[in-house]
Amino acid sequence: MMRLDVTGVGMTSLRTRERMVQRLIDKGIGHPKVLAALRATPRHVFVDEALASRAYEDTALPIGFNQTISQPFIVARMTELLITAQPVLRKVLEIGTGCGYQTAILAHLAEHVYTVERIQGLQRQAKNRVWGLGLKNVSYLHNDGGWGWPDHAPYDGILVTAAPETLPDALLEQLADGGVIITPLGTAGGQYLHQFRRQGQEVEVERLTPVSFVPFLAGKQ
Ligand code: SAH
Repeated sequence: MMRLDVTGVGMTSLRTRERMVQRLIDKGIGHPKVLAALRATPRHVFVDEALASRAYEDTALPIGFNQTISQPFIVARMTELLITAQPVLRKVLEIGTGCGYQTAILAHLAEHVYTVERIQGLQRQAKNRVWGLGLKNVSYLHNDGGWGWPDHAPYDGILVTAAPETLPDALLEQLADGGVIITPLGTAGGQYLHQFRRQGQEVEVERLTPVSFVPFLAGKQ
């Protein structure tokens, strides 16, 4: 188990984190539970030590394996969309664990988080980090998230952090009645955040803002 410098000093201090949260509030994030989760989650433990001093800038950063930790504003926005559309989050499925930052935020808001990642090395590291923060309500699966995680379905919310061109059928099938999916969709040339909501046999889709995510890739490594 790696040792986590959770408290931080200087550029990784609580004050720096509070400034990041203040900038997110200025950009329109307002849900008190989302803000509390952001305040409770040290972002610097999710990036390499060499980048820790940049962890509270509102930018995406490399996390190895050719992947990036999402920009804090996007993490905050997607989480806010999810909890606003579905305030009761018993089970949440996350596709794309990455470094685990979004996972940790979700773990503060949901009873249980199920997270799927196709790159084993990344997920192993994420698991250590999230566990190291004392968040024990998370289960991990190393697989292609295009299959969802049927064993624990249905989910009240599904959050996808890589961009498929179209929504994988399995995710819609594993969504609870009244449940919500927040996902980027599209190609590198043009991606938009989308919100899907299941109401009985009906599915409502809403296209939201333009975004830029790494591509959703098939298979695992
Ligand atoms: N929320 C993460 C975002 C990481 S980037 C964070 O803040 O760190 C997106 C992640 O999705 C990458 O780790 C990538 O490996 C993963 N990914 C891409 N396609 C996937 C798929 N089909 N199944 C599971 N994970 C996938």
